[in-house]
Amino acid sequence: MNYLDMDLCEVVELVKQKKVTSEELTRECLDRIKQTESLNALNCVYADEALKRAREIDQRIRRGEDVGVLGGVPIVIKDNINMLDTKTTCSSKFLENYVSPYNATVVQKLLDSGAVVIAKANMDEFAMGSSNENSAFGPVKNPIDPTRVPGGSSGGSACTVASHQCFGALGTDTGGSIREPASFCGVVGLKPTYGRVSRYGVVAFASSLDQVGPLTRSVRDSALLLSVISGADQHDMTTAQTPVDSYLTDIDKGVKGIKIGVPKQFFTDKLNKEVRDALDQALETYKTMGATIVPVDLKSVDTALAVYYIISSAEAASNLARFDGIKYGRRANDYKDLVDLYYKSRTQGFGKEVKRRIMLGNYVLSSGYFDAFYNKAKRVQKVIRQEFLDAFKQCDVILAPTTATVAFKLGEKSQDPVAMYLSDIFTVPVNIAGIPSMSLPCGKNVEGLPIGMQIMAKHFDEKTIFRVANAFEQAKKEAL
Ligand code: GLN
Repeated sequence: MNYLDMDLCEVVELVKQKKVTSEELTRECLDRIKQTESLNALNCVYADEALKRAREIDQRIRRGEDVGVLGGVPIVIKDNINMLDTKTTCSSKFLENYVSPYNATVVQKLLDSGAVVIAKANMDEFAMGSSNENSAFGPVKNPIDPTRVPGGSSGGSACTVASHQCFGALGTDTGGSIREPASFCGVVGLKPTYGRVSRYGVVAFASSLDQVGPLTRSVRDSALLLSVISGADQHDMTTAQTPVDSYLTDIDKGVKGIKIGVPKQFFTDKLNKEVRDALDQALETYKTMGATIVPVDLKSVDTALAVYYIISSAEAASNLARFDGIKYGRRANDYKDLVDLYYKSRTQGFGKEVKRRIMLGNYVLSSGYFDAFYNKAKRVQKVIRQEFLDAFKQCDVILAPTTATVAFKLGEKSQDPVAMYLSDIFTVPVNIAGIPSMSLPCGKNVEGLPIGMQIMAKHFDEKTIFRVANAFEQAKKEAL
């Protein structure tokens, strides 16, 4: 039996029924990791520790103990999430040797649910990027076509799931970093509502936008992982008290009577023809299943990209000020005085894109420009958010492409930051509004490269996303 081709939900059951052991699953994942090493998806693999933990879980199962809903299943986490006594590098030279003294809340929740964390995934440095080419440890390759990017910044997480090195992964999404790589690698990626998942122990990029979420091979797996990592956390005051839904109940309810909003602003001529065709077909499938399609208007959504790069860079400049060579990470050896120590440590430790964001952020926050850029962006953010809320008065979910094109070639945009920023055009509005959105595979182009679509919902309505996405996934399976 090839367990690696199974979904997370399937293997969880098999472990419970003692049809396979956690140790067997972990060994299979570790073997696959070796075979697919050239994809460069992982920064660090914990082979011995994972096998030890797997054996402990197997023992507990044999004793008849309840080992949790993820009992014994190998999971990967992005390398900006702290796990006790392991390195958290953020794929940066700055934190190359930084060892975490504690577990992030999401990691603690994974462990409490019985997961075996086998590795940390490669990423764009400090989660800044859309192609994973900004990693200090080399780019991740797209598992479907290794001459192409896997997307970013959670490219390692998407790649490890798509290449069946594990059964699910965590990523982070500030402007699209879960959904864009999910779309490029043909997996399911969910950005939860801001405040649904704790950010405690996750290295901050833009604190008002960052959110942790699952990357999986099925919608059901996504629901299972979200139910594990969600919830209020006393260590993160931005987590919401809103009760966590039971995401798997009603997931098979279908879409009869569901209203799907289609915003014309996402279906422009910037959209590649094959992507558009795939989206049109998905809408047809939904109609056949009994959903209604309604046009919605998100007039200001075109401004979201500018708003995003102002707000996220401003927050990044503030958050990254803590990396001064004194307390965290790398310290330059050769310096004249304190200022020189800061200067040299930061010059040597940060990569080009991170420096660009710090400069951009400090610029929009500087006294002469604060009103013109930062304050204005915050005002436009309110307008965008309101437009989404108004749209959701007319529909239950909004459907849109995740990206305008399929995965691009390695090197194609790395010399052109604006072209790279433009790849986030359809994902950033969601973060600006704070709503949840899932990217799921909806087709392939002629070359067999995956195409993704997004399903967005109101704040804290992830449950409807799972229901609507699952209906499509099932319909596609039946059509095969
Ligand atoms: N690609 C976007 C950026 O570079 C989004 C990153 C993210 O979501 N972490 O900022």
